[in-house]
Amino acid sequence: MKDFSTILVAVDFSDSSQNAFELALNMANKYSARLVLLHVINEPVDLRGFYVPHISFEKLEEEIEEGAKKMMDSFCRQNLSGFDNYESVIVPGLPYEQIIQQGEQLSADLIVLGTHGRTGLDHVLFGSTAEKVVRKSPLPVLTVRLQED
Ligand code: AMP
Repeated sequence: MKDFSTILVAVDFSDSSQNAFELALNMANKYSARLVLLHVINEPVDLRGFYVPHISFEKLEEEIEEGAKKMMDSFCRQNLSGFDNYESVIVPGLPYEQIIQQGEQLSADLIVLGTHGRTGLDHVLFGSTAEKVVRKSPLPVLTVRLQED
């Protein structure tokens, strides 16, 4: 079996992705793999300057990017002390598409994500990002369900 040398974990800052991240970090430690944390700025089509003048839209986009970067930096500081073999990537787009695309670009050996994200929807087995990544990814995918007592 091919070793895990690069593990991509999809982080949306929900409890479910935190839980998936912890498993991904354990695996990265165990296999001495590089861990790539990916956050996708979910970009609906209508944010593309349709309702707001171009200039204020650009400012909004910059602020969103800065906010996402701050959240990712703080996540890494809190969760990765003592582990250096990682990088974080933030891209705009559709989460499921970007998770698969970045996984392919990085030649990841495994994609790890939570079964649910920030939308909650606990009554469904899979959230929509999880479901689409599992259905469409050519790379191996590990989904992690958060056990709530
Ligand atoms: P969902 O299917 O949207 O409920 O989310 C399931 C999992 O997909 C989450 O636990 C994350 O691991 C991942 N995910 C969802 N949205 C994003 C995002 N915007 N960026 C990175 N990962 C995401």
